[in-house]
Amino acid sequence: MKKIDSSIQLLQEVLLADYTTWKVGGTARWFIEPKADQMPDLMEWANTQGIKSYFIGRGSNILIDDEGLPGLVIVTCNSLTEICRENNLIVAESGAFLPHVSKFAAKHGFAGFEFLIGIPGTVGGALAMNAGLTVFRPREMVSVVENFDVLNADGSVETLTMQDINVGYRRTDLLNGERFVLRVRFRLEEEEDPAVVRRNTFEHLAERKRKQPLDKPTAGSTFKSVPGGKGAGWYIDQAGLKGLQIGKARVSSVHANWIENLGGATAKDIRQLIAHIQSKVEIQFGIHLSPEVHFLE
Ligand SMILES: Cc1cc2nc3c(=O)[nH]c(=O)nc-3n(C[C@H](O)[C@H](O)[C@H](O)COP(=O)(O)OP(=O)(O)OC[C@H]3O[C@@H](n4cnc5c(N)ncnc54)[C@H](O)[C@@H]3O)c2cc1C
Repeated sequence: MKKIDSSIQLLQEVLLADYTTWKVGGTARWFIEPKADQMPDLMEWANTQGIKSYFIGRGSNILIDDEGLPGLVIVTCNSLTEICRENNLIVAESGAFLPHVSKFAAKHGFAGFEFLIGIPGTVGGALAMNAGLTVFRPREMVSVVENFDVLNADGSVETLTMQDINVGYRRTDLLNGERFVLRVRFRLEEEEDPAVVRRNTFEHLAERKRKQPLDKPTAGSTFKSVPGGKGAGWYIDQAGLKGLQIGKARVSSVHANWIENLGGATAKDIRQLIAHIQSKVEIQFGIHLSPEVHFLE
């Protein structure tokens, strides 16, 4: 345990596998699940000490090495979870769970947030990834966010819009880890009968349950869709890689773009499987599959 000041205590050597959906990754040198008012001091402390900060929401789109992370790991999903309504906005803290935001919008009689129901991440992680859907009802974070507050390394806070940062398919500037997303404001525009929103939401969830291996530890889609081509899973399937296993990591037989941890998989197993898939698909189709999962290192 390390005290930064009377109100902030850091844990040491916390196992990060417990904070990712893949259940993989070594320990954090320093670790905290902060309250919002502790964040400016934390960022400033790490900055002045020359310690790198790493942000984790629910760890549903990251791969952490078996050696762990040598800096300060800040996890949001248990302590920064408030969601409220302010006029025509939903204001959610960075660690708020996306399905909770989806249900909150439905309860208030607004459509447009159904796509968040099956994405098991936080608001901050989803913003950084520009998370979204290309199937079912296509939509992504950029289309529903009004603005958001970020904390800079020196402890200053700025309010930004999506136009202020570079946004692409499953990526934004925020992935460089220089700014911490404190809270996100979503626009409520599409008024709808809550019963209709709920029905659409549950249909969407049922569709996911049919097509995705939700009973295994995964990080969702491993690779991005191929621009102008097909979904990554199609190429992996056609290359005959469904069911391929390295160590305890396996290409799902339900959805070829998902890699399952069969219990005890290491980051090395997953990295080797990713490299093997990329090489086979490149040889067969001349296409390079880019990872959608973010390597936190
Ligand atoms: C079963 C399953 C289904 C999925 N389905 C989808 C889907 O349909 N669509 C989709 O897009 N994704 C999907 N994903 C991937 C993932 O859930 C999303 O990308 C999600 O938005 C990531 O949120 P997170 O909180 O888990 O982020 P993390 O994985 O914790 O982090 C992702 C990145 O965001 C950064 N980050 C996290 N919090 C902050 C913060 N507060 N400030 C700045 N940076 C931050 C991290 O440092 C990291 O670089 C799925 C994953 C699983 C396991």
